Amino acid sequence: MNSPVWHPYAHLKTQRPPPRVVGGEGAHFHLDSGETLLDATCSWWCMIHGYAHPRLVAAIREQAGELCHVMLGGLTHEPAERLARELVRITPPGLDHVFFSDSGSVGMEVAMKMALQYHHLQGKPEKRRLLSLMKAYHGDTLGCMAVCDPEEGMHALFNDALPRHHFAPAPRAGFDAEPEAVENDLDGLRRVLERHHREIAALTMEPLLQAAGGLNMVSPHYLRGARKLCDEFDVLLIFDEVATGFGRTGRLFAADHAGLSPDIMVLSKGLTGGYLGHAATLATGRVHEAFIGDGPLHAFMHGPTFMGNPLACRVALESLAVFEQEDYLGRIERLNGVLRRELLEDEALRAHPAVAEVRVLGATAVIEMRDAASLAGVADNARRQGVWLRPFGRWLYTMPAYVTSEEELRHITRVMKASIGC
Ligand SMILES: *Cc1c(COP(=O)(O)O)cnc(C)c1O
Repeated sequence: MNSPVWHPYAHLKTQRPPPRVVGGEGAHFHLDSGETLLDATCSWWCMIHGYAHPRLVAAIREQAGELCHVMLGGLTHEPAERLARELVRITPPGLDHVFFSDSGSVGMEVAMKMALQYHHLQGKPEKRRLLSLMKAYHGDTLGCMAVCDPEEGMHALFNDALPRHHFAPAPRAGFDAEPEAVENDLDGLRRVLERHHREIAALTMEPLLQAAGGLNMVSPHYLRGARKLCDEFDVLLIFDEVATGFGRTGRLFAADHAGLSPDIMVLSKGLTGGYLGHAATLATGRVHEAFIGDGPLHAFMHGPTFMGNPLACRVALESLAVFEQEDYLGRIERLNGVLRRELLEDEALRAHPAVAEVRVLGATAVIEMRDAASLAGVADNARRQGVWLRPFGRWLYTMPAYVTSEEELRHITRVMKASIGC
């Protein structure tokens, strides 16, 4: 029977019926066919504790018995208050104000809208364009599509329908690059700012790891240089840490590698451990202060129905507690060791003629192929070996749950290599 479910990113003509998931625990999920698959993607990078984590499930049950939902307009509640305080505590210094929403894309919309209104309130209404990077991905809503890579990104079809923003070249110097090697990338950024800063409200970027745009890994020196340029040209710096937040790059936040604070930072995906959709847009006192005034334009006119949802806030609090009490950063370091040994240091893999580059950062690894065609059939092959892999474009990657054991991760890397004949 045909299903009425319209699946994302799928070609409806050629798609096959998707496997049906009935449950899961830890890094695995189960299908109704009886198969169990080890999830190498942790469900689009959000299920950082894996499936059916007892503490997260209990937190949702307990909260459901008290209060499932209430509007945040004119009201507040303990889970939202506590989560906001916790996010201020763990994020880089100065990010003291938290605006909740319900998904990463909306969190980014909030960030961009906040940046435009900030400049308006500062008497610079002409600053209403954004500066983004090639290879960027910031979400699928119209506002977010307009700051995604307009050429190689997945939304090129809509270019004419979107507001026109500015783009700087994607940074090329890798994570370990020396400061001098990053100068060239920063020059590219400076050139756009010199020409257009009068109309640029904010620079948006996925710090250190341009994820859905091809897992491009970037030097912390680039972040420091970008911070300086933003200050020089009175441009706000927005970090989209939707994918990088909560340990993915090896530190709690990518910004921590560079020891700096953006003006606005967006969190989602790992925020709730993936158990409920939610997002947080954090802003510094400087941004927040601009909104304090008597004018009718001072209110921030945004309020997603489900912002600050108590179930989502409560499970996010539990997720954070588990992250800290169970030394997830230590786990991530051990997973990083496996990824480095099994992929980065595998000479045969790196020398494979179809492989363009192998990159590893924190609990993320990618084998970039020269050609997308060499990944045909990889997902099916992996499934036969009990692993859920979902390569896209030229990129075969893993972003495992942090509860994945070293042995399980070695199984994932073995299957990745075997699938490309290595
Ligand atoms: C996934 C992602 C988004 C969009 O989040 P949704 O919750 O899917 O709307 C935005 N930015 C980055 C960097 C992402 O990885």
